[in-house]
Amino acid sequence: MMLSFLASGTAHGAVNPFAALAYLVSGVLFILALRGLSHPTTSRAGNRYGMAGMLIAMVTTLVTHDIANIGEIGTAILLGGIVGFTIARRIAMTDMPQLVAAFHSLVGLAAVLVAAAAFLNPDAFGILDAAGQILTVSRVELSLGAAIGAITFSGSVIAFAKLNGNMSGAPIMLPARHVINLGTLVAILGMTALYAVSPEGAAGEGWLFWAILAAAFIIGFLLIIPIGGADMPVVVSMLNSYSGWAAAAMGFTLGNTAMIITGALVGSSGAILSYIMCKAMNRSFISVIAGGFGAAADTGGGEAREQRPYKQGSADDAAFMLKQAENVIIIPGYGMAVAQAQHALREMGDLLKKEGVNVKYAIHPVAGRMPGHMNVLLAEANVPYDEVFELEDINSEFAQCDVAFIIGANDVVNPAAKTDKTSPIYGMPVFDVDKAKQVFFIKRSMGGVGYAGVDNDVFYMDQTMMLLADAKKMVEEINKALDH
Ligand code: NDP
Repeated sequence: MMLSFLASGTAHGAVNPFAALAYLVSGVLFILALRGLSHPTTSRAGNRYGMAGMLIAMVTTLVTHDIANIGEIGTAILLGGIVGFTIARRIAMTDMPQLVAAFHSLVGLAAVLVAAAAFLNPDAFGILDAAGQILTVSRVELSLGAAIGAITFSGSVIAFAKLNGNMSGAPIMLPARHVINLGTLVAILGMTALYAVSPEGAAGEGWLFWAILAAAFIIGFLLIIPIGGADMPVVVSMLNSYSGWAAAAMGFTLGNTAMIITGALVGSSGAILSYIMCKAMNRSFISVIAGGFGAAADTGGGEAREQRPYKQGSADDAAFMLKQAENVIIIPGYGMAVAQAQHALREMGDLLKKEGVNVKYAIHPVAGRMPGHMNVLLAEANVPYDEVFELEDINSEFAQCDVAFIIGANDVVNPAAKTDKTSPIYGMPVFDVDKAKQVFFIKRSMGGVGYAGVDNDVFYMDQTMMLLADAKKMVEEINKALDH
């Protein structure tokens, strides 16, 4: 009944009041989803709001638009759903950033394809004026949507290749890259303006659209290749933002309010997240989006490292000293995710609390390989939220802490970020673990480095005990020793 109501009287472009209301409801649900996702306790509800909003938006779109072939669309949704479901179930948590990058590339490609379809068949999209020419405003939407989509696509493909190890993570610096980037960007804007004002049939009008598209593919590639090392998280969230803007632009072309709202929400929240991450890593927002402006040419990962003395301990040593401690701060990082050590770690926290030890978890904004990576893993292991602290809330406590327990983290505790101007992570705020009375450092070998590929002075400090093993195995052994 409701569906037939929605479907009635909907010529393309005309606003059906019921569709408008349904899109408004889905927009509100998306906003509630974002609000819910801002805290671990409300994130499940946030996800449900988002799913409900998307369902309402999809059903409304399907029943209020002149759908040519519902069978084809249903088949595409089914096939895409099966592929997405299978990939999401199989993917290892540690490969999530490259999966996100791959999915962003698809959003970009979808925007390009919609723009190309509208350009080739404007009548079907209802974007022709009385004289049979594509409306000026639609030309601008098409050009910008296609350009942002193309940048998102090629940029995300490069981000995927870098994160997945198909190409080196080191920055690739072309000579005069800023001049090339700026020139290409100006060319895209210039061609968009020209295309918008060209009368139908004017020389070159047709290929202007394709030239904009080609230039945008190239600039997406050029913007991401110089970005390397520790700046990749910002790039992933920036591409997320671009994919939102591309979808919003296509929402105008398709006359779909829900797409405009959703695209704008994704675009702005991605941009805000990128800004927050830039602040967390002390990077300039402008320099990252401008293609690694001012980035070091080499991450330093390949250089030979001098042999320095360090102390190595066992699980029994660690358990003994942990029992004596009053305050323990646990710093998880990427290695905890690789080892899937979060459950054993929660158990260790519980055993220590039974011994009267005060246990806290410290999370760095870029620990792991995706925003919120550590929060998700600790929540999965049921670590109480009130024991989990952000960098700025806990960093002053290391001076009073007996043990800083580093499990699979490296770059986020590297003091070179504070002292070594030549380090690729220089300027990124890090945990002040060097102020703790004792530091336990779990990693598999002295040879392994963190994401930025640099040595870490914490390994060699007097108060540091290296616990060299797989994180899960080491924590399980500590738990056995604590239990005795
Ligand atoms: P790092 O990548 O700096 O270090 C990981 C550490 O884990 C290494 O010391 C490694 O040493 C150890 N490790 C790996 N596997 C295991 C295992 N099975 N058991 C025990 N230890 C293991 O991690 P951090 O979390 O400290 O820092 C994150 C880095 O990633 C930052 O540079 C950040 O900029 C970057 N990044 C972050 C993203 C995000 O969104 N959060 C996205 C992309 C990059 P060893 O090999 O010897 O075991």
